[in-house]
Amino acid sequence: MGFNLKHYLKTFSLQELMKGMSVTGKYLFDCKFTIQYPEEKTPISPRFRGHHALRRYPNGEERCIACKLCEAVCPALAITIELEERPDGTRRTTRYDIDMFKCIYCGFCEEACPVDAIVETDIFEYHFENRGENIMTKDKLLAVGDKYEEKIAKMKAADAPYR
Ligand code: SF4
Ligand code: SF4
Repeated sequence: MGFNLKHYLKTFSLQELMKGMSVTGKYLFDCKFTIQYPEEKTPISPRFRGHHALRRYPNGEERCIACKLCEAVCPALAITIELEERPDGTRRTTRYDIDMFKCIYCGFCEEACPVDAIVETDIFEYHFENRGENIMTKDKLLAVGDKYEEKIAKMKAADAPYR
């Protein structure tokens, strides 16, 4: 390695250190932001990838058509789907499980879904108390979707112009 005058000048004049200290100094006297969580919350992006939900159409019909794209795309192999064909030829899942311990919240399932059935909500405050509760079954996912449909629709609409 050759002699680099610029490098040595930079090192001995402590330029990087001064730069760092100036940032510290700038924020030392600035207004402080302390969020009193959980009473206070920070804003959440409509793209936030939290707890999953399965959605229905306004007439109550499940959106999911059991195409299995979400199961195929899931890099964590967290989704398990079984399906059946109805007498009218449509397909619906008989089993739709997501293992929340395996899930890495990448959002690929939501991206892959052609009918906006599986979505990730902005719910991030949840926990499991018993073994097995990490498996979110179809009923549980639909229940989350039913409960938060209004909010989910708003989040989808807010994000739509950027897709
Ligand atoms: S968010 Fe990613 S890891 Fe989680 S279920 Fe969907 S595709 Fe799989
Ligand atoms: S949630 Fe969407 S991608 Fe997954 S099986 Fe149902 S329709 Fe297909």
